[in-house]
Amino acid sequence: MNEVPLKFVEYQKIIEPRSVKGQFRNIKTIILILAFVTYFLLPWLPWSRDIGPNQAVIFDLSSHKYYLFNLVLHPQDILSLAILMVFAAAFLFFITTIAGRVFCGFFCFQTIWTDAFRLIERLIQGDRVTRLRLKKQKWNFEKVRKVGLTTALWLALAFWSGLTFTLYWSEAGQLLVDFFTGQAPLAAYMCTAILTTTTFLAAGMAKDVICMHICPYSRFQSAMFDENTAIVSYDKVRGEGENGRAKPLKTLKTQEDRTKAGVGDCIDCNYCVQVCPMGIDIRDGLQVACIHCGLCIDACDNIMDKQGWAHGLVSFSSENALAKKKTSRFGIRTIGYGLASLIAGAFLVFSVVNSAKLTVDIAHVRSPLYVVLSDGSIQNSYKFKFYNMTSKPATFDLSVEGLPNAKVDIGKLKHIELKASRGLRVSVRVRQASADVKRNANQPIRFKLTPIKGEFEEAIIHPSQFITP
Ligand code: SF4
Ligand code: SF4
Repeated sequence: MNEVPLKFVEYQKIIEPRSVKGQFRNIKTIILILAFVTYFLLPWLPWSRDIGPNQAVIFDLSSHKYYLFNLVLHPQDILSLAILMVFAAAFLFFITTIAGRVFCGFFCFQTIWTDAFRLIERLIQGDRVTRLRLKKQKWNFEKVRKVGLTTALWLALAFWSGLTFTLYWSEAGQLLVDFFTGQAPLAAYMCTAILTTTTFLAAGMAKDVICMHICPYSRFQSAMFDENTAIVSYDKVRGEGENGRAKPLKTLKTQEDRTKAGVGDCIDCNYCVQVCPMGIDIRDGLQVACIHCGLCIDACDNIMDKQGWAHGLVSFSSENALAKKKTSRFGIRTIGYGLASLIAGAFLVFSVVNSAKLTVDIAHVRSPLYVVLSDGSIQNSYKFKFYNMTSKPATFDLSVEGLPNAKVDIGKLKHIELKASRGLRVSVRVRQASADVKRNANQPIRFKLTPIKGEFEEAIIHPSQFITP
């Protein structure tokens, strides 16, 4: 989108957006409510499990397990996490090529929390004009009361946001009691304090400054746009005609009068600028600071309704659509990111569904590589590490294949018995009688775990080697 000028917004001390009603405002409010309900209530949602905490979502640091409803992730599932990140990035790029920065405008934590902080501010201090007046007036009882109450409520929301995040990392009920009775771990207090401070500063004090000057995503997102990307756009041809914008003076009230005078439909009311949380004028073209929240569309639609004119002077529209050219929703870039999302999504589902229920690490003891016993037989030693990732105990018989007449010794144990969701280390020795030994060889062997009890049905084979003199 080379022809569209990109402008960096100068730092402004205060952006005091005006409230607005409309479809995009409603969508943002619904997303805010859903996000808050999910975030604040999820740690309190009970969940029944055979083994593990009865909390639907908990990142249990003590047992190194992450419980997401019926899904239990172990540190060994790091690959799934990596695929999830790739999927999220590809999907985000896919959405950006279709509809610009809608993630920023509707779903980003910074936007959602800033929206909530602004709502509190508006409820206490009033709408834009009243707030601007309050900011300019000298400190008196009214100003102290309003600013104090706003700050107190902001701090309360920031604290509860920080504490809720901490509650995800342990059993919420117990941690909450411990937290307020001074019994919680130091990390819980530190985590809550850091998040309270950062939430207060980012959503309450910095607000749009984060999006404009700190978030790196805004810097490269516009590189993903093309002529078909639906972005928030001002229809300059309709808005300005041949002679530009004009207030609806007596002689310019109707569209017919305005067409005759060569002016467009923009009545230069500035409502779209006043509602913008980033303080920009969309009529100046696409700007890096625009988070595609759609509030200027709502504002302009309200004005068009009052004038009795059609919506769409400001709208989600592509460069091609504005130029009345053919618009294709799926350009090369969109198809590419879409395919990448699909592939990453398929890998993610595959890796979660097929994640190993049992991990087995075998280390051949190197020092010594082998031992010649008094009867001439050869012995190799191995260190086994098992991890049973199921929620049921499991028992296996351990044997070895590929080594004629070899015997497996697991000390005092009869079988490998694994507790549910637990690991086990076992020292294993494999012996072969002197007559059967193939000299001077590194023989490939296979350890076979035959299930006796538990969720496992098929034998599990792991390759290793047997070293002889
Ligand atoms: S210009 Fe419009 S879409 Fe962009 S940030 Fe401002 S109000 Fe939101
Ligand atoms: S709200 Fe619409 S009519 Fe008013 S200034 Fe913005 S674009 Fe023009």
